[in-house]
Amino acid sequence: MKHIEINIWKACNHKCIFCMSWITRNKVLWFEKFETIENEIKKLSNLWYNSIWFLWWEPTIHPNFLEIILCAKNHNFENIEVISNGSKFTNKDFLSDSLKFWLTRISISFHSIIEKEESFLVWWINWVVNQKIEAIRNLLCFFNKWLLKKEISVNIVISKLNYKSIKKTILFLYKIWIKSFRLNFIQLEWYSTKNYDILALKYEDFKDDLLDILNLCNSYKDLKINFEAIPWCFSWLNYENFLKFSEQNIDREKDKISRDDINLTSRDIINQFNRRKELKVYLKKCNNCFLKWECEGIWKRYVDYIFK
Ligand code: SF4
Repeated sequence: MKHIEINIWKACNHKCIFCMSWITRNKVLWFEKFETIENEIKKLSNLWYNSIWFLWWEPTIHPNFLEIILCAKNHNFENIEVISNGSKFTNKDFLSDSLKFWLTRISISFHSIIEKEESFLVWWINWVVNQKIEAIRNLLCFFNKWLLKKEISVNIVISKLNYKSIKKTILFLYKIWIKSFRLNFIQLEWYSTKNYDILALKYEDFKDDLLDILNLCNSYKDLKINFEAIPWCFSWLNYENFLKFSEQNIDREKDKISRDDINLTSRDIINQFNRRKELKVYLKKCNNCFLKWECEGIWKRYVDYIFK
C-alpha cells in the first residue's frame, strides 16, 4: 500500500499536557476548507496513494469529517484510518455514519486506565476514562458485527506520569477485547516542554517496564504490542525482538507501508520525514552502529536530558 498521513485542521476538544501544538481546548487555531482537502485527496489518488491516516489534533470534530472520509473512499483509498481521542465515538450514530462512509480503522489515544492520571494528562476532563471505555465498547460492538473492517488499536504515549500503569491499562483493555497497542515514547518538543519536569522520562527508567510489558505477548498470543521512538540501543532487546516489536520495522517490512512524503504546499501539512529530521539526532556512538542507516536516532531534546 502507498500510505500518507495528513492533518486536516488544528483544533481539539482535549488539551493534553504532552501535546506539542499549543492547542487550546475547543478553539480552532487553523481551519482547512473541505475543497482544499478534496483537491489534496484527488492529487494523492492520482499519485497512486491508497492508504490514508487522518491524525494530529482531533480530526473527528472537523465539521466536514464525514465528507472527507467519503471523498477518500470515492478516490479509491482502500485503507482510511483515524487516530482519535475517542470523544465523538461515544455517539453510536456518528460512529455508524463514519463506518458507512468507509472508515476502515480507528485508533484511540488512551494513556492510563487510572482516572486521575488520564484526566490530568488530557488536562482535566472528568470521567474521561469512562468516556474512552464507552467509545471502545461502541467500536467493539461494530467490529463484532463485521462493520469495522480492521482491528481497533489503542495508542499510548509513554511519559513519567503513566509509565508505571501502562501494563495495567493494556491488561484491562485486553480483557475487554482490544488486542493491538502502540506505545509512543513521549516527544518533548514545543508545547510539551512546558511540562518537562512532570513528563520527561529516561529510556533507562522505562527499561524494566518495557520488558515486562512486552513479555505480556508471551502469555497472550493474540496480543500485539509495538513501540515507537525507542531506538534499538535503548530498548535492551536483542535485534530479533527489536524487529518484532518496533513500529519502524512494521512500517517498512511487514505492511509495506510507504512513508513517502508529498509536496502539498497548499497548507501546513505535517511532513513526517522533515519532522523527524528536525527533531531527531544521532549520538557519537551511532557512527559505529550497524543500524545507523535504518535508525532515526533519538529525540534531540532527550540528549539535553541525558546530560542534565
Ligand atoms: S543508530 Fe544510534 S540511536 Fe540508533 S540504535 Fe544505533 S546507536 Fe542507537
